[in-house]
Amino acid sequence: MPDKRDYYEILGVSRDAGADEIKKAYRKLAVKFHPDKNPGDHTAEDKFKELGEAYEALSDADKRAAYDRYGHAAFTNGGGRPGGGFHDPMDLFSQVFGGAFGGGFEEFFGGGGSRRKASGKQRGSDLRYDLEISLEESAHGVEKELEIERYVPCEACGSKGTKGSGGVRVCTSCGGRGVVARQAGIFIQQSTCPECRGAGETISDPCSGCKGEGRVQRDSRIKLRIPAGVDTGTRLRSSGNGDAGVRGGAPGDLYVFLHVRDHDVFQRDDADLFCEVPLPFSVAALGGELKVPTLDGQSSIKIPPGSQGGTVFRLREKGMPSLTNGRRGDLNVRVQVEVPTKLSHDQQEKLRAFSESIGNHNSPMQQGFFHKAKRFFDL
Ligand SMILES: [Zn+2]
Ligand SMILES: [Zn+2]
Repeated sequence: MPDKRDYYEILGVSRDAGADEIKKAYRKLAVKFHPDKNPGDHTAEDKFKELGEAYEALSDADKRAAYDRYGHAAFTNGGGRPGGGFHDPMDLFSQVFGGAFGGGFEEFFGGGGSRRKASGKQRGSDLRYDLEISLEESAHGVEKELEIERYVPCEACGSKGTKGSGGVRVCTSCGGRGVVARQAGIFIQQSTCPECRGAGETISDPCSGCKGEGRVQRDSRIKLRIPAGVDTGTRLRSSGNGDAGVRGGAPGDLYVFLHVRDHDVFQRDDADLFCEVPLPFSVAALGGELKVPTLDGQSSIKIPPGSQGGTVFRLREKGMPSLTNGRRGDLNVRVQVEVPTKLSHDQQEKLRAFSESIGNHNSPMQQGFFHKAKRFFDL
């Protein structure tokens, strides 16, 4: 097979890499290309297969020695396993990660799945809740009550899952392991124990309230303090407020994903706020005070005479609090000069007189513009 890639190259290790280094490289890459993580991605699937083969060859001292001497030919000419084949890459993966996806598997995948213990206890799932709050709530922090349907401990049986005492027995089918193995041709196939459904225990008198699970589904309310400064995308963890575990297992966590609603006055960029405020053109020319909104209420800025539209005035520490360092951002007020629309006859006359008196000697922007754009006008 001329196209086959070099096993060392596939694993990204040098030819003198130790067994630990090879295993580490395999674990890292196998997690990355695992089909569960890349559904429908055939390239990833091929890579995953290739990795399994490379690892299988290099993790076995004899096979590795053969590969080092003969390359891929070591396995195609009956030098490897009987028939020259390799293990199913999924089986190999399970083997390396310690059995039926237990152990480190879920940690690598970041999954909130339940972890099975020999006692039949299972950790509850982590839950996600999407919460929308206003900008004001984000600015000041807020306490919220969340309504969530989740598993809570069964009170009727004290989470034990059984009515009386002594009703829990180690499952005889699987000996408490939760999995059963059976020979299928040359393979040993492992599957969840059908008798105890993986719990490792059977219950002779299950609690009627929870059917032996030790937990029940309920609408429950959880109070949550939202700290000041959160933004869309902020994720808060409420420890132990996920699903209750099976038969007294540890509860999962609740993850709250925050969404801060758009505000009709302020736009936000991290800790800084921006807003546009109309400025009467007479105030722009003569100077004066301009009232502006802030999250703490009304404030005012001093407009110097001759202010142009588009000028940004910065109000220090009137922005949002920062989640990380507690400092407040600034509020940037951009003024928009407003031209009056309904002038009385008298006002029009005065403005005309004003216009004649000023001519074009006192319009620095206009002069600059005409200088640059001269060639576009018949001057
Ligand atoms: Zn069983
Ligand atoms: Zn119960």
